[in-house]
Amino acid sequence: MKDKSIKVPFAIPECGNEEIEEVVAVIKSGWLTTASRCAQFEKDFAAYVGARHALAVNSATAALHLGLEALGVHNNDMVLVPTFTFTATAEVVRYLNAHPIFVDCDPKTFCITAEHIQKALDINKISLSDGRLKCLIPVHFGGHPCEMDDLLAFALKYNLEIMEDAAHALPTRYKEKLIGTLGHVTCFSFYANKTMTTGEGGMLCTDDDDIAGRVKVMRLHGINRDVWDRFSTGASWEYDVIAPGFKYNMPDTAAAIGIHQLMKVEEFRLKRQRIAETYFQALKNIPGLSLPLPDCSMKDHSWYLFMILIDPTMTKGGINRDQLIEKLAKRNIGTSVHYKPLHRMTYYKKRYNLDPVMFPNAERIFENCVSLPIFSAMSDEQLEYAINNIKEILM
Ligand SMILES: *Cc1c(COP(=O)(O)O)cnc(C)c1O
Repeated sequence: MKDKSIKVPFAIPECGNEEIEEVVAVIKSGWLTTASRCAQFEKDFAAYVGARHALAVNSATAALHLGLEALGVHNNDMVLVPTFTFTATAEVVRYLNAHPIFVDCDPKTFCITAEHIQKALDINKISLSDGRLKCLIPVHFGGHPCEMDDLLAFALKYNLEIMEDAAHALPTRYKEKLIGTLGHVTCFSFYANKTMTTGEGGMLCTDDDDIAGRVKVMRLHGINRDVWDRFSTGASWEYDVIAPGFKYNMPDTAAAIGIHQLMKVEEFRLKRQRIAETYFQALKNIPGLSLPLPDCSMKDHSWYLFMILIDPTMTKGGINRDQLIEKLAKRNIGTSVHYKPLHRMTYYKKRYNLDPVMFPNAERIFENCVSLPIFSAMSDEQLEYAINNIKEILM
């Protein structure tokens, strides 16, 4: 049922005149880097998720790096990370010369659980009293909240910090509360294909004043402005450098987009939920196609991803995941795979001698998973076209 006039991208951002006008105003103002739009965006974001501090940076990767640095992770420390995630979650651990310990995921939610963390520690023969074990980075996979009460209890018991990678989780709710304040640090992404965007951008949230102070310094060259802020009668050129910091600040052009995207983020989520509900209805009872099995209510999920599993031993004609993707692509329907697990990536695999048998759930999911198009600007026509073609291929 190929229709040349219809194209369904995997995801495209939804921007309106509000974003355009605010960006134009920034450009006309003559001040394009970090200033008032950024401060406004941070204030709005902190109020929205209920965090004491929201600090804007130029990517979630930057936020994760700064968060770990501020938590004091350093040389030879160990940090628990999912294998079923994007490389940014683990690479930041290596930036600080610490080591990721990879954790398998739950077969239903695709999130890590306390049980899988314990398994990873056992496999790696790491004792929980090992002082090098510092931190845990849960990913709210696809927008599904991790079982945070369990993870928080586990972290408390063994004196670990939790830094949430919430790149998929805006807005995700855990027990009706927005993700953003449960861990010690929470990091969001505003990359172009995320649930809201600034093109490139990220936000670090924390309730801890010391962490916020350190992140503020390290996101801009390690410059400490306190001297100048305290004695504002002093020369405006005066500043001190207290560490070899980074260049991670968010420009006002990006923050201008973010301010308006944030105002629409609940509306965007509701549109994605409607699409998810339509997929659930339309794609049930298709041989070999498994729908997501969320362990949370529909409204608590951000629906960043709608990931199905294809079992080629059950599908019509034995169609597998790759063949489905290829057939859909021929009909102009974009899909994606989230993710090839990190234990299969050359760098991590070789550096840490990782074996797929250590990660049976991630292995099985990876081989069969396809992420279907889901984005707030998706039209009814696009959704219907995607559904009809999936059905035609598999039924
Ligand atoms: C997108 C993503 C990141 C990185 O976000 P950037 O803003 O592109 O740096 C980190 N973790 C996960 C799970 C992601 O999906």
